[in-house]
Amino acid sequence: MAGKPYMLEPELEGMPRELLRERQTALLKKTVETCYTKVEMYREKFKEAGITPSDIKTLEDIKKLPFTTKEDLRLRYPLNGLTAVPMEDVVRLHMTSGTTGKSTISPFTANDLQFEYRSFARFFTACGAGKEDVFLSLFGYGLFLGGLVAGPAAELIGMNHIPSGSGNTSTRQLELIHDLHPTIMAGTPSFLLHITEVAKEMGIDVGKLGLQALIEGAEACSEKTREKLRKDWNADVFDAGGTCEILHIWHECSEHTGLHMAEDAVIFEILDPETDEDVPLGVRGELVVTTLMKEAMPLLRWRTRDLTSIVSEEPCPCGRTSRQVDHLTGRADDMVKVKGVVVFPSQIEEIIKSIPEVKDSEFQIVVDRTKMSTDILTIRVEIPEPLSAISETISQKIGTKVKDTLVINARLEPVEPGTLPRFTHKAQRIVDLREI
Ligand code: ZN
Repeated sequence: MAGKPYMLEPELEGMPRELLRERQTALLKKTVETCYTKVEMYREKFKEAGITPSDIKTLEDIKKLPFTTKEDLRLRYPLNGLTAVPMEDVVRLHMTSGTTGKSTISPFTANDLQFEYRSFARFFTACGAGKEDVFLSLFGYGLFLGGLVAGPAAELIGMNHIPSGSGNTSTRQLELIHDLHPTIMAGTPSFLLHITEVAKEMGIDVGKLGLQALIEGAEACSEKTREKLRKDWNADVFDAGGTCEILHIWHECSEHTGLHMAEDAVIFEILDPETDEDVPLGVRGELVVTTLMKEAMPLLRWRTRDLTSIVSEEPCPCGRTSRQVDHLTGRADDMVKVKGVVVFPSQIEEIIKSIPEVKDSEFQIVVDRTKMSTDILTIRVEIPEPLSAISETISQKIGTKVKDTLVINARLEPVEPGTLPRFTHKAQRIVDLREI
């Protein structure tokens, strides 16, 4: 990209940590007060917990606050007693995809939207993108938050934004890339991989298309996938994310040492999902976020169901002072329990990508139960035609690696190339037959 990475809002992104704590404390008290006086759900939760806003005096007092879960929002669908502003102050509604249950609504005020655009724009500047760059967005433009945020954020810093969206075919996307020369492109990892696959079939070398950076987001992505994208496209790959509920609050910088959390706008905790206690540095736990800047629907101790760990508490060479967390692997919602063991699609993906014969193959995880109520884990993998004779060997390799990693048995079901579903948005690779 043309420019050097920089900070869009250095006074906030590079704020000394002592000042950051003061800011967080003041904003936490204000948010708690707003939730208590304006949001019916929180008034009830506070009553149940036997607390009032006056109990929250320091940052540590956050532990006294009740958690907020997806189920809390579902029970009050669409927005019964959830908002802190009158509906006439809401200018947009987004919705989660509902892949893991009933959808929930996220309302935005005009200020919320501006915050969200700046937040995503911070990420662009952290990658080194600027007004000379051309941004092709493959994120969906609709109820899903991604496209309708990344686009305006790109425009905010003067980039040329091409809102291609996920609706166009891969052939059309490749044509746009060829004709309009984007330097930076964003999409879900599954769609980026899909385009790579289509290009290969068409005899196009994507590494020569001139892309300098790829942004992957909206679903868990393994390091192997990032590596593959980096190599195939001959471009830097950045991870960024957030959710509809807490907005885009984490992103990588050009140092690639972890993901910066926007601590000037949120307070985050990483908790042991079993005990709800803070986990030590480097240990994985559930990311729990309290929003400090959201107007329409502030959230206290929102359980993201995403798992991560703190990788650094030191200021980063990029100038940002926020702590960094690891790439968010599987969401707790996307996991499946097999024989009591938690299995994430990203773990199976790592295993498949480590086997050269099938490293680019599509896969599916099928969980079923025998008549004796024993769980069976089957991994369907597309085996390239000439290799079908050696599927037995691949099967053994996958079986051994699954056993080593997850301590359970898995069997391989080889399928013809092109038979498993492709995903243009969020990949859904788990098929659970036990409920049927
Ligand atoms: Zn950094």
